[in-house]
Amino acid sequence: MPDAIAECLICRGIPRRLFVTPRTGLTILRCGGCGLWMLGDPPGTDERERMYGAAYYGCWGDSEEEWFGMVRRLKQETFARIFRRVAPWRPPGRILDVGCALGASLEVARRFGWDPDGLEINPYAVTMVRERLGWELHQGDFESVDLPDGAYDAILMVDVFEHLSAPVPAMTKARRLLRPDGLVILSVPCASSVTAKLLGPYWPHLQREHLFYPSWRSLRVLCEKTGFEVLLVRPTVKVLNLRYIARSLDRRPIPLFSEISRRLGRVAPDWISRWGFPIRSGEILVIARKGPARA
Ligand SMILES: [Zn+2]
Repeated sequence: MPDAIAECLICRGIPRRLFVTPRTGLTILRCGGCGLWMLGDPPGTDERERMYGAAYYGCWGDSEEEWFGMVRRLKQETFARIFRRVAPWRPPGRILDVGCALGASLEVARRFGWDPDGLEINPYAVTMVRERLGWELHQGDFESVDLPDGAYDAILMVDVFEHLSAPVPAMTKARRLLRPDGLVILSVPCASSVTAKLLGPYWPHLQREHLFYPSWRSLRVLCEKTGFEVLLVRPTVKVLNLRYIARSLDRRPIPLFSEISRRLGRVAPDWISRWGFPIRSGEILVIARKGPARA
């Protein structure tokens, strides 16, 4: 069957088959122009709606208590690292967190002086955040949600950009929602990362809900094309613990790594398996500033 994607989603170069993932059978294409990796057969609208149902955050832990306890603390440490990177580039203002999930970013944003607003596709997460944290989120898909133009000083998309169907229209929309000189802050699985190159078809980021995986070059092309000036590009550092990693590897096994994690899980004391440590996650952090309109 021919692949559904005939041209690169960013530079319109010609994609070629790179590999098919074992077990999950995902066809991964690579753009000959900018190096973007893409799913050869991306899910349609109906399948995408089913993906983000109530069970979606089940990969985060065994229970809601764990999500709002341990997982939340880890995610907040990761967001604090990101906000420290943003601080030199712009004083805090109004920020939209796209795909804010269970709201871990919102409190961190506030701690760093920002006035946060959250958008989340999963209605279950929206209800949980309202009930548990008292935050009222916008519910919907970034690509179709109606938000006011020029309302934000920054737009944050961590672990979400790769879920969108089309990167160029998404960045164009982000640009429209931003005030002049506003920032877009992206963290996205990166095809140029060491883990992508090392693990290839076993790279844990290769999932059906991730539609594309930019290289460093594709991100630069994307920003240039959509009127953003790149301020910072560097590997994303996340704070994880052994328990969280074991949970992810159970759900998406990688030969050898899953076995090591299972054995560690059996011998490590509880306090060690819950201890958070910084790790390069195979994603890339990009901070880019909305440039002036071009003629
Ligand atoms: Zn390309």
